[in-house]
Amino acid sequence: MVEQLTKLFCVNENTPLEKISDPLLDQSEINLFIKREDLNHPYLSGNKWHKLKYNLVGALDKNYDTILTFGGAYSNHIYAAAAAGKVLNLRAIGIIRGEVHLPLNPTLKFAEECGMELHYIDRTAYRDKTGKEFIQSLRKRFGRFYLIPEGGTNELAVKGCSDIVKNINIDYDYLCCACGTGGTFAGLVTGLNGKKNALAFSILKGADFLTADISRNLKKYSGKIYSNWELILDYHFGGYAKYNNELLTFMKNFSRVNNVPVEPIYTGKLLFGIFDMIRKKKFNKGDTIVAIHTGGLQGLDGLAL
Ligand SMILES: *Cc1c(COP(=O)(O)O)cnc(C)c1O
Repeated sequence: MVEQLTKLFCVNENTPLEKISDPLLDQSEINLFIKREDLNHPYLSGNKWHKLKYNLVGALDKNYDTILTFGGAYSNHIYAAAAAGKVLNLRAIGIIRGEVHLPLNPTLKFAEECGMELHYIDRTAYRDKTGKEFIQSLRKRFGRFYLIPEGGTNELAVKGCSDIVKNINIDYDYLCCACGTGGTFAGLVTGLNGKKNALAFSILKGADFLTADISRNLKKYSGKIYSNWELILDYHFGGYAKYNNELLTFMKNFSRVNNVPVEPIYTGKLLFGIFDMIRKKKFNKGDTIVAIHTGGLQGLDGLAL
């Protein structure tokens, strides 16, 4: 069923693995590759396809005609879920954090153009979005729907992201990705199944809670406890969607030299972090690192960089 869906969406399952060049990598004798999952689909790009695919199969299997999910105004997940709803002819409802700002930003404009119904709730109500009563009120209001949590993270998302590992066909020592909720990372660790090392780069400030979240997701999905992973907390740049000139300068140079577009919310921070850790000798000579490009480039349209 997921194969059919992959075909229907025309997803590229063989995204390139590109070698990154930089004098620092030569000096340190470290190989860095980037897995271009951002190229898997124009709208359900990067990890969002993997997080959604088994959820969409689940929704179709159980004959849902509506999906409902949550996100902020610039959310890559909302963008992807809206596109998925359109392709599958499902009613899609997006519960958006905060107030409506008109004109809509490019992310929400796209979602609305896909037919997603946008409903705005204030930040306090949004914080309580997993509460039983709140979900019940949504069911009363919208009828029967398949619920996809914020950022799309659930067990099926972890399963989907574990597939990313299968398509990396070189030998390597470290697998690295940017981390919001940690669902994608839990998938990668599951896919590694105890082999190699995995590093999660938190893009959130004060995200110590992610260690517990990731462990819980790992246990819930795989039933196992893994110890070959680590959460890196030093490269959040002040928090979600925060960045500074140092990051932007790094990104610009990286993109120009390697012809790989990145954005400052996720992959920019990830790559900055990897380079900084190389500079600080956190890796060994001869190590091979694979960084996952998780996509999210749609967000660049809404940023005035
Ligand atoms: C959503 C997103 C992430 C974070 O994924 P989580 O599973 O929530 O950790 C990382 N990178 C990009 C580009 C994203 O859009």
